Amino acid sequence: MSIQTLEIRLSERPTGHVNSKTFVSESISLSTTLSSSSGHVLVQVDWLSIDPAMRGWLDDKRSYLKPVQIGEKMRAQGLGTVIKSSSKTIKVGDIVRGTFGWCTYAIMAEKDVEPLSLFPGVHELDFLGILGLPGLTAYFGLFDIAQIKQGETLVVSGAAGAVGSVACQLGKLKGAKVIALAGSDDKVEWLESDLGVHKALNYKSPTFIKDFKAAVGYLDVYFDNVGGRILDLCLTRLKKNARVVLCGAISDYISITPGAKRFTMYPDQKPQGLQAYLNLISQTAKIQGFLVFDYASKFDGVIREMNQWISENKLKRRFHIVEGLEKCPESMNMLFTGANIGKLVVKVSAKVSP
Ligand code: NDP
Repeated sequence: MSIQTLEIRLSERPTGHVNSKTFVSESISLSTTLSSSSGHVLVQVDWLSIDPAMRGWLDDKRSYLKPVQIGEKMRAQGLGTVIKSSSKTIKVGDIVRGTFGWCTYAIMAEKDVEPLSLFPGVHELDFLGILGLPGLTAYFGLFDIAQIKQGETLVVSGAAGAVGSVACQLGKLKGAKVIALAGSDDKVEWLESDLGVHKALNYKSPTFIKDFKAAVGYLDVYFDNVGGRILDLCLTRLKKNARVVLCGAISDYISITPGAKRFTMYPDQKPQGLQAYLNLISQTAKIQGFLVFDYASKFDGVIREMNQWISENKLKRRFHIVEGLEKCPESMNMLFTGANIGKLVVKVSAKVSP
């Protein structure tokens, strides 16, 4: 027995944004005979997560994960429904999370998928958002790396995205004054009216630097998702013993191509490092990068805690849903043009609903 699956594979490494030549899609026949000696499952892929880190996996360079190889299925985490199983613990109908890649069906070893426990008030999609890597990243960045305290001033960039929107809300829960930075007036509106941050600012506004200084004064914690010129600006506004959390640096993820549309301090050249770093010395401040994967042993406890906050309506979430597996490549670019509000996901299977 076999089933047709559509796979999207890397065909060439892009310079700059992903383009029509970066990936190729192919329909292949997948044997559905599952090994009975070790448990396996056949999964119908329902949702795929689109994350900024995926762009880095396309470059042939050393990082925390191996680059995706030419000809290989694009790596991606997702949620799916088990439609056949030789596992003793995972049954047909279970919803599982796993790194299925860009495809419609995948055969997975049972050790590589995680059945989800759907508590009341929680949607399966939350396991790609607040209860997935973005939410956990915000949690550990803010509570472990920054050790945010009540009454402190917190600045979050990329604030209307998957990680940033959780970081803003966790900061509020802790009693911090939260200033959120994002790239459009719609995002500013959402952050202020729905998420209730103290102030949100559009970093593309011509008065941004003046507005920033007026709203922030000086900051205790900067949760950085974007790097570049916003990081430098924040480094000029540190309070004594401030903490700068290097979560991501999306403004510097794409190699520089002439004419590439991006907001950067360095349009014609490579990033030049931190320009205002001397303030770290004068303010005895810390700057620290981190990877959420290093906290894996603590994930379960934090998921339970955040699940409780969702059910108490203390954490809100928003998903930006793109329909169709074939839209995965262009969705990646949305992260770099700021087209997404909230967590960006691709809906692969017709049977699921948000
Ligand atoms: P988002 O949902 O925040 O999407 C990316 C957002 O970045 C865009 O919507 C856009 O919003 C903003 N952006 C894009 N280009 C620029 C630019 N040049 N300057 C400023 N902002 C820009 O993505 P995630 O929440 O998934 O990821 C946020 C960050 O967290 C990323 O840097 C990611 O790599 C990092 N990360 C780190 C992890 C870790 O373990 N350290 C784990 C997971 C994520 P806007 O309209 O506001 O510009």
